[in-house]
Amino acid sequence: MPRRFCLALAGLLLLPALLPAQSGGALDAGLLGKVWSTERFVAKAAPCLRPAELEAELRRLAAAHPELLLGEVGRSVERRPIYRITLGRGAKKVMLWSQMHGDEPSATPALLDLAHYLLSHQEDSEVARLLDQLTLLMVPMLNPDGAEAYTRRNSQGIDINRDALNLATPEGRLLKKLRDEAQPMLGFNLHDQNRRRTVGNSRQLASNAVLAVVGDEEKTLTPGRITAKRAAVAIAAALEPFAPGGLARYDDTFSPRSFGDNLTAWGTPVVLIESGGVPPGASLEELTRLNFLALGATLGELAADGLAGRDPDLYDQIPENNVDVYSDVVLRGGRIRQPHLLEAYRADLAFDRLRGDREAAGCQPPGPPRSTVAELGDARIFGAGEEIDAGGQILFPGFLIGAEGFGARRFLDGPGLEILGKLGVSQVRWVVAPRDLAAAAGFAAKQRGRLRPRVEVSADRAALPIRRLSRRPEPPAGRLLGQLLRSLESACGQPFDHQEAGAVEAALLALWNGKNAAPLRYESVASLLVARTGGGGLAAGSAVSRIFLDGAEVAP
Ligand SMILES: [Zn+2]
Repeated sequence: MPRRFCLALAGLLLLPALLPAQSGGALDAGLLGKVWSTERFVAKAAPCLRPAELEAELRRLAAAHPELLLGEVGRSVERRPIYRITLGRGAKKVMLWSQMHGDEPSATPALLDLAHYLLSHQEDSEVARLLDQLTLLMVPMLNPDGAEAYTRRNSQGIDINRDALNLATPEGRLLKKLRDEAQPMLGFNLHDQNRRRTVGNSRQLASNAVLAVVGDEEKTLTPGRITAKRAAVAIAAALEPFAPGGLARYDDTFSPRSFGDNLTAWGTPVVLIESGGVPPGASLEELTRLNFLALGATLGELAADGLAGRDPDLYDQIPENNVDVYSDVVLRGGRIRQPHLLEAYRADLAFDRLRGDREAAGCQPPGPPRSTVAELGDARIFGAGEEIDAGGQILFPGFLIGAEGFGARRFLDGPGLEILGKLGVSQVRWVVAPRDLAAAAGFAAKQRGRLRPRVEVSADRAALPIRRLSRRPEPPAGRLLGQLLRSLESACGQPFDHQEAGAVEAALLALWNGKNAAPLRYESVASLLVARTGGGGLAAGSAVSRIFLDGAEVAP
């Protein structure tokens, strides 16, 4: 079986070079990936698993498998128990720990799923060999306080993974103690990274990154580190069929304060696995499946032949993790029209939708959309979740419109705001009497949501925008810029005269509140319209092809 990396097409890993060492057995990555959905033990998505729920799941796991050793091995700063599960009876000890960063949960349920799978299939020869050869020491969720608060750091505000030398955290001291007692021959440090990292220059999202952690500044290639490299190559092979070309190599600069680096130096070589981007069309739970199958297959090979079948040199050919070159949406080839500049200019625009994992997994109610412009200019090196060809089109900021008096709440309700969103209004400035300020602010906060403009409440009459609503707007008759302007005109009770030559410009300027409206900028919110112009400027007949309100697209 060929076991060389084929480097082709900007560093994409090709499948034939990475076929698993065994195939068809119970620890074959292909099979593990297939059976995970029916054999998984933890039903909840990783970001939804709170410490108390993990504890209940661990007790359920121990009850299902009497041979599993479940022990409380320590306590967090807030006195939450930290558990270890032990399975197998082999001389080779392998330690696996997850979620030392509280908001990096993808591998936590995978550890329980894997323990359950192994203990449910002991009659299988490959599983029996694994349990005979290896002793698996698993610490799921090393940072339960961080997991509860859904923060990276522990309750002391310390990053546990930078505490390997100071040992100021009880969680860090525990990890070191467990390592020192067991002296494992290999460790797996399981994290989540930025979900928008890419694989080398491929512009493809990295579903995972892997690192055979170095133990010193010189990156000395010790026998242990060679084993870690072999493990990383086995992981690459296991992941390839499920996330083709989606594995990157994590930055291997020596990190003197980190656990992986110090554990490696203390004699336990460490493999870091980062879960990253979600492959197209999948949910966050896919990352748990990838951890499950990669760990299962790699441990199977470790038990079978000590990973001797893997060429450690292939590790160095895994493309590096790349950052800041991937966005959720990239509009390419358009021109930007800013309120304060008369000429539209050529620029791509890339933006990200900011949504927390707990929100994405459905265990936190969806908040109002949040977005940020990640690039304005040349985005040719960017990969994208959604590519939009904006050639021949002009991108311009959403409109700012005013409303006066507490009575305006009649049309600043949800349905009224949604019509304004369809008209390209991204911001409403609502000026009320000082006595109504609190009530108006409360009302506006309740209306916040997807596809609705942001409403800003003020008692400063001087802040009133040029254009002010006097009634609930009618939905637009179509998506021509002139039609949007006509609806806004009638809702404002003020003629815009936009049919006159040059008057569209004047109408737009008024809707941007003169030249002072928020321009499209790097790190501004992504509230914008995109219109076809046929090469000239914006006109009444320009078709508005897209409207985004804080990153969310308004359907025509
Ligand atoms: Zn981390």
